[in-house]
Amino acid sequence: MPPRRVIGIDAGGTKLLGGVVDEQMVVHHRVRRTWRGAGRQETLDIFTDAVEEVRAAAPEVEAIGFGIPALVDAEAGASRWSNHLPLDGLPFRDLMSERLGLPVVVDNDGNASMLAEARGGAAAGARHAVMVALGTGIGGGLWLNGELYRGASGVGAELGHAVLQLHGPECPGDCPGIGCFEALVSGTAIGREGRRVAESEPDSALGRRLASGKEIDGGIVTELAHGGDAPARAVLATIGERLGFGLVGLVNTFNPEVIVIGGGAARGGELLLEPARAVVAARALPPPRASVRIVPAHYGDEAGMMGAALMALEALG
Ligand SMILES: [Zn+2]
Repeated sequence: MPPRRVIGIDAGGTKLLGGVVDEQMVVHHRVRRTWRGAGRQETLDIFTDAVEEVRAAAPEVEAIGFGIPALVDAEAGASRWSNHLPLDGLPFRDLMSERLGLPVVVDNDGNASMLAEARGGAAAGARHAVMVALGTGIGGGLWLNGELYRGASGVGAELGHAVLQLHGPECPGDCPGIGCFEALVSGTAIGREGRRVAESEPDSALGRRLASGKEIDGGIVTELAHGGDAPARAVLATIGERLGFGLVGLVNTFNPEVIVIGGGAARGGELLLEPARAVVAARALPPPRASVRIVPAHYGDEAGMMGAALMALEALG
């Protein structure tokens, strides 16, 4: 019998990555979408369209898993609130299941990433692990005592909205917080810091890019940093240092065996992780810092997609 196949969809704040995944976690087809400022109907249409595209390539899929950037009551299949997408108060599972004619499971995108990394990725075998996925914002997930931690009403664990800076910048999106972890550390924050440095370093690759009128975002800064541009590297070092201070709180609070850093903005790799580890080594409490590993996601920026697929496979039983 051929392995069962499902569709995993990871929808972030501005982009979607989906794929057909089988029970051996092999990805067969992929789909990508990007958007900015789409309304609710348009957003759901983009999701539907992406599913239909991969489904056309693999009509035998049995279910669909969604990881979405929202506070999701996974049991009810409902999106309670979303910082980056217009999905507040939406019976997501039932709505999408009706639209797509297949069983649907939905969870928070950070939880989906955590599940994938804990089952077969960088946190495999750990009983206590933390996921920090850097994208438009920060997706967070906690793996405590060998299972996902969801909190009292099922909408945990939004690690990106822990406050990192008193009276800091306003949190992007609809979060009422200021100085949140994700306001200071994310792909968006890398782009913002990149634009600031580009203005002060006109002779750098970053500066020349700004002068040519091209957009500077987190992806460009990361690409230039890997190419050796010193100011771009300095931007990643700054964001990596801030990431480290965010991780200090997580190391001290949860005493995890491993913290997995994923999401599209984690492509900076060691340029982000080294400064982050240095801060943890200097600032976290000695016993928890001695045992924690801070590692890149095994599934890279596909962790959310793989986790969403896993949730769908596990729901099939
Ligand atoms: Zn916030």
